[in-house]
Amino acid sequence: MSQDMSSFAGTDRYEIVVGLEVHAQMRTQSKIFCGCPTRFGAAANTQICPVCAAFPGVLPVLNREVVNMAIKTGLAIHGQVRLLSEFSRKNYFYPDLPAGYQISQYELPIVEHGHLLITPTADLPPKRIGITRIHIEVDAGKSMHEGIQGASWVDLNRTGTPLMEIVSEPDLRSALEAGEYLKKLRAIVRYLGVCDGNMEEGSFRCDANVSVRLRGESRLGTRCELKNLNSIRNVMRAIDYEAVRQIDLIESGERVIQESRLWNADLNSSRSMRGKEDAHDYRYFPEPDLPPLRISAARIESVAASMPELPDAKATRLQTEYQLSEYDAGVLTASQALADYFEAVARYTAELGHPNPKMAANWVIGELGGRLNKDNLEIQQSPISVQQLGKLVAMIQQGVISGKIAKEIFETLFTDGGDPQHIVEQKGLQQVTDSAAIEEAVEQVLATYPEDVAQYRAGKGKVLGFLVGQIMKATQGKANPALVNQLLRAKLDKRL
Ligand SMILES: [Zn+2]
Repeated sequence: MSQDMSSFAGTDRYEIVVGLEVHAQMRTQSKIFCGCPTRFGAAANTQICPVCAAFPGVLPVLNREVVNMAIKTGLAIHGQVRLLSEFSRKNYFYPDLPAGYQISQYELPIVEHGHLLITPTADLPPKRIGITRIHIEVDAGKSMHEGIQGASWVDLNRTGTPLMEIVSEPDLRSALEAGEYLKKLRAIVRYLGVCDGNMEEGSFRCDANVSVRLRGESRLGTRCELKNLNSIRNVMRAIDYEAVRQIDLIESGERVIQESRLWNADLNSSRSMRGKEDAHDYRYFPEPDLPPLRISAARIESVAASMPELPDAKATRLQTEYQLSEYDAGVLTASQALADYFEAVARYTAELGHPNPKMAANWVIGELGGRLNKDNLEIQQSPISVQQLGKLVAMIQQGVISGKIAKEIFETLFTDGGDPQHIVEQKGLQQVTDSAAIEEAVEQVLATYPEDVAQYRAGKGKVLGFLVGQIMKATQGKANPALVNQLLRAKLDKRL
């Protein structure tokens, strides 16, 4: 089957339809129906009890915190928290599921009718993506096929870990939109502290339901469910691959079969895993061991009052409070830690008497963000502190150093640390604002490049940039650029 993008490009007649199911592992101390710890990485089968192992006669007791976290998430996605929801048994056999059923929610989930706004492209207004429901359920254990020679075995430590399944409407129309949706949802669960959002470690897992249809068609095509997507990049690649695969099938007169497909990131392709079950295959019925879950309006209110400022609200505030662009505010609020760092830098430059929030944002996003990315570091691991970057920005704003020199100092700070002010003093990097010194450099450069001077005077204005560059070079980047421009123009025009 051809999988080159050229075959994809020739299929503009088709539309991709994507719905995402996200399983978010909740960051509670203990499991959902017993008191066992949820800590990751313990020795196999050391964090289990008769409830986890589904011994006969044991009864589940619902963890209060699980409900609070689901309410928080529901409110954050503008959903309706049901005052009455119920648990159901989803029956299936799997070795890592000792009970033979999973306790989940089916007909009456805890949250319904939510949505998120995503901004896949800067030039289009935000798009609303519906969230059908959030339900609470229990995670299974892990089947292991390594470690014991010639045998498979099971580790039940994960059994009983609380999950939220967050199900979107089939509102996503591209891999890009799916990626943006996941980033937004992950930011929200992280802000709320209900999930660590780690896709690589599997605490934030995503299955993608993908189908295609001719543009203008209102009926949905047959969907396939993509599994094993352990990064946002893989989700996007798998969706693009799947769309091409389905379009090729349809174009060659074949049929798309409803199935689960396993994504293989190394091969950049997917393979059929099993026919996809429909809900009726699971024989859902109300869980007899748990009473219906009743939530009071007062409880929802008190949870709402405990919620932090969320990404959208924070982005709006940063725009008004610091006059940032929508784009910058969006980048800075991707994580709470990043937004906190920016705000601390902006505040510190104000304390130093030289505020410039826009410049602070540029340094946090551009220089620092790029450098951290290069070293694969998070903002929390930044070798440059708020005070160091704040001082640097304040010195540019004050006119003590040029932006160019600041970049050199930034690199020193990143690798060796130190006080930006001391570095400037020690290395004599203060900006030259003495016009006599700059004038001398201007004279020198004009004498060295007579041909360029002639070209400028013949009307080639862009030669100016070259001459400015030479003067900056002659002053080791320390000349005040505004002053250089001013003096250079004056001299060039005077001799006409
Ligand atoms: Zn237990």
